[in-house]
Amino acid sequence: MRCRRIRPLLLDYADDRLPREQRSLVARHLESCQECSRAADDLAQARRWTALAPSPQPRPDFSQRVLAAIERGPVVAPTRPKWRFVFAAAALAVTLLLGGIFGYHRLHTPAPTSAQPEDLKAFVDFCTSNHSTLPESESLLGADDLFVPADYAP
Ligand SMILES: [Zn+2]
Repeated sequence: MRCRRIRPLLLDYADDRLPREQRSLVARHLESCQECSRAADDLAQARRWTALAPSPQPRPDFSQRVLAAIERGPVVAPTRPKWRFVFAAAALAVTLLLGGIFGYHRLHTPAPTSAQPEDLKAFVDFCTSNHSTLPESESLLGADDLFVPADYAP
C-alpha cells in the first residue's frame, strides 16, 4: 500500500478505529515506511496532549437557558430601517445627476484653444481704436508692442 493511501487512515489508526484488516495493512506499512511512521507518532502524540487538556464544562444553568430559549420560540431579527435604503438611493441619484451634468458640460464645451496671431492682432486693434478717442494719457496708441508678443507677430 502506498503512502498516499495510508496517510488518511493514520488518525483512525491512532484512535484504534480501523477494522482489523486495515489496521494490519497500516501496521505493516508503518514498519517499512519511516515517513508514515513518523506521521503516525505525531498523531499519537497530539492525541495524548489533547487528552490531557481539560474539557470545557457548560455553565450550571446551561440546560435551563436552552430550554427557555426553545420555549420563547424563534427570534425574529430586527428589520433594518428603510430610510437607509432611501438615503442610499438618493445619494446615488444625486451622484449620477451631478456626474451627468458635469459630463454633459464637458462634452459640449469646446476645448480651449490657443489664441491665434490674427485674433490677438484684431483684439489689440479693437482696443487701440476704442482708446484712440481718449485723452493721450489714456490712449493705447503706439502700445502695440506691449500687447502682441513677439511669437504672435504676423
Ligand atoms: Zn508511507
